[in-house]
Amino acid sequence: MFDKILIANRGEIALRIHRACREMGIRTVAIHSEADASAMHVRLADESVCVGPPAVGKSYLNVPAIVAAAEVTGAQAIHPGYGFLSENARFAEIVEAHGLAFIGPTAEHIRVMGDKITAKEAVMNAGIPVVPGSPGAVESFEDGKKIAAELGYPVLIKAASGGGGRGMKLAPTAADLKEAMETASAEAAAAFGDGTIYIEKYLTTPRHIEIQILADSHGNVVHLGERDCSLQRRNQKILEEAPSPALDSTGRKKIGEIVRKAIESIGYRGVGTIEFLWEHGEFYFIEMNTRLQVEHPVTEAITRIDLVREQIRVADGAALEFSQKDVTFEGWAIECRINAENPRTFIPSPGTITEFHAPGGLGVRLDSALYAGYSIPPYYDSLIGKLIVHGRTRTETLLRLRRSLEEMVVGGVETTIPLFLDLLEEPEFVNGDYHIHWLEEWLSSRTD
Ligand code: ADP
Repeated sequence: MFDKILIANRGEIALRIHRACREMGIRTVAIHSEADASAMHVRLADESVCVGPPAVGKSYLNVPAIVAAAEVTGAQAIHPGYGFLSENARFAEIVEAHGLAFIGPTAEHIRVMGDKITAKEAVMNAGIPVVPGSPGAVESFEDGKKIAAELGYPVLIKAASGGGGRGMKLAPTAADLKEAMETASAEAAAAFGDGTIYIEKYLTTPRHIEIQILADSHGNVVHLGERDCSLQRRNQKILEEAPSPALDSTGRKKIGEIVRKAIESIGYRGVGTIEFLWEHGEFYFIEMNTRLQVEHPVTEAITRIDLVREQIRVADGAALEFSQKDVTFEGWAIECRINAENPRTFIPSPGTITEFHAPGGLGVRLDSALYAGYSIPPYYDSLIGKLIVHGRTRTETLLRLRRSLEEMVVGGVETTIPLFLDLLEEPEFVNGDYHIHWLEEWLSSRTD
């Protein structure tokens, strides 16, 4: 087993990985930008290396500096976390070319799944149902018009290399198609250096339900059930729960088995998430993420499986110690993504934390790198913590969520804690009766 791992990330996820390493007896190397010298992930790691100035392009995405940091500290593997370099196939190749292990899938799998068009093709061939759409890239307006007419409006124009909700444009009618195609392509070219687009049927009120999988390099694959991530703002997840209020155990088994077999057939290794839209009882694949997800703790809560530990073990060539029949689901878990933002306008609120109190008690987990006196730098995303609560039933979990949110104190900056407290007053949310547009509709209907 590795005895030293470099964590190529920051914030709560760097801490999360550090914790798994520690429990496995593995030493850790933190990297940080000049703005993060006093960050908690740096304080807790065994060693740390400054890899550049605050701008992410010069630090957390600075591949030569990161690989050099691993070499000088004698780390044997690099864990990329999520975001940053986690889905960069070239980075995975460079890491391996330097004789280090990349804690993730092979560069080839990252590449295939990183392009939404090739990903869709690959999973379709492996038996996974996909959203109806163009058979591949759409190169001209004429082709787009034909395909959209066949699919029926509204349609969604998506970028092959899109991510984080960017590069997506809705065309409600035929009259909107040209502009939607042009803007989606231009935006994707500017953001991702690739303007390739494709077209999908736009589903009006689906839920976002994703399946967590875990695979070793010996052909063993398990699925760890689903997460429901339908509570979104601007196509970004805000709150996630496991299991989904919409699925029963038959539905869960059925989709889990389809995904498990498909992943087995493509020979994937590592953790991965197959994301679906779910409408009228049917699943439609949208994309696969070849990395640890922000919302992985809700799965950990109901399966009692440490996903980061498993990720490290399989990257080292170890076989899974359990099979599908050993995976059982217990209770209900909900995660709130707490951001340093105004809870009404969502304008970021960086600054110094004057007071901090973490909620605790049975079934409460807070993944956060905050501490009193810490200054949130303005250069990075505004996630300051993930509150994960677990209970025997969804009702118990909601009650626990409320009391945990009420206990949590973050002084000095604005946070989205009040947003979650308000949500807990909403009967539709409380009943689990919401789809991917519900939150935005609710936000715009609030008058007080
Ligand atoms: P990204 O990689 O940018 O996150 P995804 O393909 O995962 O993009 O989609 C993000 C979100 O966009 C989904 O969770 C869903 O809310 C919405 N979305 C994506 N495809 C469709 C579709 N065909 N119809 C309706 N909404 C969609």
